[in-house]
Amino acid sequence: MRRTILLVTVMIAAVLVASSAVAYAEQSDKAAEKTGPDKAVTETTAPETTDQTGPITAENHSWNGYHWARKSNPFDVKLLKDRLRTSWDNYLTTTSTDWSAEKYGGSNTTVGTQNMLNTPVQNPSTTRQISRKCPYVQGKVQVCDYTYGNNGWLGVASIYISGSHITQGVVKMNDTYFNTSKYTTSAWRNLVMCQEVGHTLGLDHQDETFDNGNLNTCMDYTNSPDSNQHPNTHDYYQLTTIYQHPDSSTTLAQTADTSNDPGDTPRQWGKEIWREENGRASVFEKKLDKGGEKKQLTHVLWTPEQADKLKEGTKPQDQQQEGQQEQTQQKQEDQ
Ligand SMILES: [Zn+2]
Ligand SMILES: [Zn+2]
Repeated sequence: MRRTILLVTVMIAAVLVASSAVAYAEQSDKAAEKTGPDKAVTETTAPETTDQTGPITAENHSWNGYHWARKSNPFDVKLLKDRLRTSWDNYLTTTSTDWSAEKYGGSNTTVGTQNMLNTPVQNPSTTRQISRKCPYVQGKVQVCDYTYGNNGWLGVASIYISGSHITQGVVKMNDTYFNTSKYTTSAWRNLVMCQEVGHTLGLDHQDETFDNGNLNTCMDYTNSPDSNQHPNTHDYYQLTTIYQHPDSSTTLAQTADTSNDPGDTPRQWGKEIWREENGRASVFEKKLDKGGEKKQLTHVLWTPEQADKLKEGTKPQDQQQEGQQEQTQQKQEDQ
């Protein structure tokens, strides 16, 4: 939907800019607005704009302009599997390949910019620790799975941002649903893994209508995931746009361990700042400093059942207790 309304959105961009509407979608559009070459070589606190040179045409599904800071391309965003069950390894490998440079065209310059970004999986240095906790690691994306409970979500992606720069990310896959016959398929696992990791790279959804035709990207909502398991060229173009400008510093270095976990309930994620029309997706925001320069943002993909509840006007409920009951029986499984 976002993509299809793009042309209209561009035409009324002036109206959008003037508007002080709080809807997340509008903020997102504003941030992604193309305003010419990026002069932001030095760090600023203001959100950076993206650059529109190269083959970009109508891509506009950046997640509010958020991006990893780096001095040059190509660069690596490392995916950690220290807290991921081995049964998910193949899906993470697929996602890792999906978002990596070769897919941007390699020598084929018709697809985005060559060698923009790699998302290698980093091997665990110690025995994997499977638990409810999925702590952030600075400069990296921690990918976890767990039976988080019947709390209504299939997957979440949380990022820390400083200004518009992503400093760390967490992806959680909810095995409570992936262990059921409906969601245990490789198509659902690939779609959700690909989409949540895609969010941690700075992408939003291309389309948020479930019952329309698939766009052949994991950043598209669908009821039948078969053809939506991987990115499409629009995703690569969008990443090319997001990462075209160099930064004067990097947020990809691990300068310190950070141990907090983003949580797995709305109460822990903060304030719901955006909800998609049919209720299937939300974004939550938690301010981490007084000025609002540092924030945690969490993209949530709800199940259809939970979306129906949300549509009825109820706030997302904390159902942590339900999940905790399963915690004991899952400990150290699949080491
Ligand atoms: Zn930047
Ligand atoms: Zn999503």
